[in-house]
Amino acid sequence: MNHKNFPMVSRVVFGRGSFNQLDEIISPKRRNPDAPFIFFVDDVFKGNAWLTSRIALSYNDKIYYVPTLEEPKTSQIDTLVEEIILEFKELPSGIIGIGGGIVMDIAKAVSLMLTNEGESKDYQGWDLIKNPAIYHVGIPTISGTGAEVSRTTILTGPDRKLGINSDYTPFDQVILDPELTKDVPKDQWFYTGMDCYVHCVESLNGTFLNAFSQSYGEKAFELCKEIFLEDSLSKKEAQDKLMMASWHGGMSIAYSQVGVAHAMSYGLSYLLGTKHGIGNCIVFDHLEEFYPEGVKLFKKMKAKHNIELPQGLCANLSDSEFNIMIDVALSLEPLWENAIGKDWRKTITRDKLKYLYQKM
Ligand code: NAD
Ligand code: ZN
Repeated sequence: MNHKNFPMVSRVVFGRGSFNQLDEIISPKRRNPDAPFIFFVDDVFKGNAWLTSRIALSYNDKIYYVPTLEEPKTSQIDTLVEEIILEFKELPSGIIGIGGGIVMDIAKAVSLMLTNEGESKDYQGWDLIKNPAIYHVGIPTISGTGAEVSRTTILTGPDRKLGINSDYTPFDQVILDPELTKDVPKDQWFYTGMDCYVHCVESLNGTFLNAFSQSYGEKAFELCKEIFLEDSLSKKEAQDKLMMASWHGGMSIAYSQVGVAHAMSYGLSYLLGTKHGIGNCIVFDHLEEFYPEGVKLFKKMKAKHNIELPQGLCANLSDSEFNIMIDVALSLEPLWENAIGKDWRKTITRDKLKYLYQKM
């Protein structure tokens, strides 16, 4: 057996207010005045001086405010890369992503595509990237996805929704400042937080589980229970802990895999544009049969925080629409193999998936 040799985030800062160190951290990475820093910032922070006044721009550094209504597309990455190449004399000194999973994934993908020829859709998959990325920094402002620590950037392309998974994808630097998450709206806090919770359940109940994944997964799972089911934490403690749960959840799936909820939620997202966090919640709510304990606790968390999930998403879909979702879900073979085992095709039939989707 050939054990995987994974790269990790090379440097990480943790702590409330650590965002103030951004300039000091990246300045030594500036190659010359013609090689700018490009900041991708979640557009929820546009006009928010509390955050943006701490981004020090020099020379021709540039901020792109990123809308987050839709998840990143390969065509969007290609356009951004082209714009940057045309606008600046040199490749950037660094790409900095400040936001949720969407913005962090855009920062990762742009940093990869600035040094790799062609279109980003051609790199969706595993280990197709040939050249190291531009120096890239991830700064989460909402916790849960684990995108800050993972070796993937999830993109929707013309043919599929699939990550660019590579050794060059992880950030060179991450700044974990839980204070940045203080204004996340409650519903979104829950959806993105549940992404982390689902990562843990899928990893801990998967056939790929090993001591590496288990140790991170159990810690993140405990933290999620504390944050979402108990009343003992202050707001600040809960923010700090959720940021670390996200990190540990991401580390857990690095050496295992996600499972049924992610496979099916990719289908919803591809056809209906349902976003990752809420999509996972919608699917996970109906997965008692695969994750009985995990789903029971999820329903408790949902009730405790008065979260109402959309119902009847698939009520009026045609057969060909169901087939699109089923094709996307079934194409994620490693996820099914992790969830069910090598013989997953025997039980995960098209009819079975249709039956499950019809409930959502
Ligand atoms: P998101 O990036 O869409 O952010 C959710 C919402 O929260 C947005 O509306 C955003 O504007 C808002 N927001 C973020 N920070 C805020 C703050 N501090 N205050 C107020 N509002 C704030 O959602 P997400 O759940 O973080 O990420 C989902 C994306 O991440 C999807 O595109 C998914 O594919 C991707 N993802 C990637 C990985 C990976 O390993 N690369 C893993 C899981 C998910
Ligand atoms: Zn996820």
